Amino acid sequence: MINYLYQEQNWQSQLNDLITDPQDLLQRLQLSPDQLLSGALLASEQFRLRVPHAFVSRMVPGNPLDPLLLQVLPHHLELEEHEGFVTDPLAEEAASQLPGVLHKYTSRFLLTLTGACAVHCRYCFRRHFPYQQNQPRNNDWPDIQHYLLSHPAVNEIILSGGDPLTLSNARLSLWVKRLESLSQIKILRIHSRVPIVIPNRLDEELVSLLKNSRLRIILVVHSNHPAELDDLTCAQLRQLAQQNILVLNQSVLLKGVNDSARVLTELSHRLFEAQVMPYYLHVLDKVKGAHHFDLQADQIDDIYKQMLAALPGYLVPRLVREIAGEKNKTPLYGVSTF
Ligand code: SF4
Repeated sequence: MINYLYQEQNWQSQLNDLITDPQDLLQRLQLSPDQLLSGALLASEQFRLRVPHAFVSRMVPGNPLDPLLLQVLPHHLELEEHEGFVTDPLAEEAASQLPGVLHKYTSRFLLTLTGACAVHCRYCFRRHFPYQQNQPRNNDWPDIQHYLLSHPAVNEIILSGGDPLTLSNARLSLWVKRLESLSQIKILRIHSRVPIVIPNRLDEELVSLLKNSRLRIILVVHSNHPAELDDLTCAQLRQLAQQNILVLNQSVLLKGVNDSARVLTELSHRLFEAQVMPYYLHVLDKVKGAHHFDLQADQIDDIYKQMLAALPGYLVPRLVREIAGEKNKTPLYGVSTF
């Protein structure tokens, strides 16, 4: 195992010290940089490699098929065109009301406060999203406030990706206070992969901010494989549950990464040890560049049936697909066409 002493580093230093060069990443993992075809470097120019040392330390050196590595390493297959795989698979640009605001569901309202992520996941459905034009500035708050007040059915705010936990605690605190000032808002949901890839992000100041909010806080983390959940990550997640903060996990079903009931069953058990409840298992969104992660409907069906047989009901995530324009995610189990 590689020891980067990341456990002692604060999260900001880790965020400022990401690995961004694919050849450097392979060398650190004792893999030949020659395995990168020129297309992979071009893919990296289009959607840059970004991965923290803390996440790389959980990859197994010498294994080119490591499931954590496959999620972040640019691949020449990303350049292929495939029918149905598009740049905005969920038609989010059409659902954007104000900069940084997506109002897709009646009672929930998405805020994308930043386009930055600590890690670039190659399958991300927002990999082509024009974040630059879609981030609220500080002086956009009155417009957002006005919009929320004129939509009283909205009672839940979702901070989504880019990754809201790449923001400083001060900036998060500012937004939490703004949302707390509106009595109609009861729930704040934070979607983030940072607690998985840089577990030190869950620092004392952040935990205190979350536990002292008048809003009911739900943190939805994103882990796809049990090897992501090392002891430090689990311990950091567990402390949130101990402060009565609900932590859920969502995963994406990915060919070559977690396409087996055995791996996903182990993931559910490991999450439970960290006091995180499995929430969603997403079928891949058909985003351009991610076709090589896609699975056939019968394979998905098979994996999910085996999970149902192997796990107690409370550890089975809901298998869902998001369909552009739909008011909710579409549950897939029992549906014959994916
Ligand atoms: S938004 Fe989430 S899935 Fe997409 S690249 Fe960022 S961390 Fe990964």
